[in-house]
Amino acid sequence: MLIAYVWKNLSILLISVVNWSGIWKLKVPPKIRNLVWRMCRGVLPTRMQLQDKGVQCPMNCVSCDSTQEDVQHLFFACPLAVQTWRMTGLWSHIVTVSSTDVSATQIIFNLVETLPAEQKQLFATMLWSLWKHKNLKVWEDKT
Ligand SMILES: [Zn+2]
Repeated sequence: MLIAYVWKNLSILLISVVNWSGIWKLKVPPKIRNLVWRMCRGVLPTRMQLQDKGVQCPMNCVSCDSTQEDVQHLFFACPLAVQTWRMTGLWSHIVTVSSTDVSATQIIFNLVETLPAEQKQLFATMLWSLWKHKNLKVWEDKT
């Protein structure tokens, strides 16, 4: 009983150590690694996240105006994101590791672990581009 408990928790710990080191080992500029890390930690200031923190802001996605803007939507469900992934040839990989009960963090961990080095870098860079695009669009709409 105790051994099973210890083993379960140890394996969870080991898996998370492997996952985080996969992100830190990505051969991309530090700003991109940092973004991926913040996404996985759930601290990226999406509109959903801001609302949770009591910031008054609209909840709709700046790109497609639909649903609630969270990490899952912005990076894996928004039509703009899907189009981006299709163009880069990564969409089939994302579909393979996605299902309704899989979080954005799990998708990222999974792809960082399994994709070949070049595609891993492309994946992280595109995550960063999508985030940058969203922020530019917010400013564009304000001016
Ligand atoms: Zn959207």
